[in-house]
Amino acid sequence: MILLCTTLGSFAQTPKIVAHRGAWKNTQVPQNSIASLQKAIEQKVWGTEFDVHLTKDNILVVCHDNDFYGIDIATSTYQELLAKTHPNGEKIPTAEEYLREGLKQNKTRLIFEIKTNKLGVDRTLESTEMCYQLAKKMKAEKKTVFIAFSYPACLKLRELDPKVNVQYLNGDKTPEQLEQDKIYAFDYSVGTLKKHPEYIGQAKKLGMKTNVWTVNKEEDMQYFIKQGVDYITTDEPELLKRILKN
Ligand code: MG
Repeated sequence: MILLCTTLGSFAQTPKIVAHRGAWKNTQVPQNSIASLQKAIEQKVWGTEFDVHLTKDNILVVCHDNDFYGIDIATSTYQELLAKTHPNGEKIPTAEEYLREGLKQNKTRLIFEIKTNKLGVDRTLESTEMCYQLAKKMKAEKKTVFIAFSYPACLKLRELDPKVNVQYLNGDKTPEQLEQDKIYAFDYSVGTLKKHPEYIGQAKKLGMKTNVWTVNKEEDMQYFIKQGVDYITTDEPELLKRILKN
């Protein structure tokens, strides 16, 4: 009986796929572009991640780095960022444009990373509040999972909304510490979770969700499938899908 339960338990725990910065690597579109979002949606992954920065003139834009092809985001206006385009001709998407595209469908969740603002924690918190209010205005909260490296940003989200989905990225809090602060999920790196494999079991006991970034190698995918994480974030959603099918 114990054996049966264990076997069933291991089958029950199939991680869900999160495409990191959209599905861009094998589709040859720019990461964090509207095209990468559309490709992830076409692949019907559980979630697709994107990164959001705040411009000098308070526009939320989607880009991973602090600069968009050499133009610094935090100290530039939105208009100034339009001087450059992605190689596929797209301009830098605003977070509003990105959400609008993502909300055309119901299957794939939007994993909304609030980037830490290089001008300081106050600016990061302003950005956090704007990101939350945007999702709320667009009725996207239930389809959105917010993630952030900034712990103050995570705490701010919880203060704004007791129900909003938040996952902490930076790896320096134990599951117990997160749970005490009502942050009921983490999204930790491969390195952190290999150093602290106990975090996954501890989180499960506390009823928390576990996500791991960025898992691109097959052996690491197999490792985290065995560990029973809830979500795997990857640049290779096609590979992970093939592995999970077998
Ligand atoms: Mg990110």
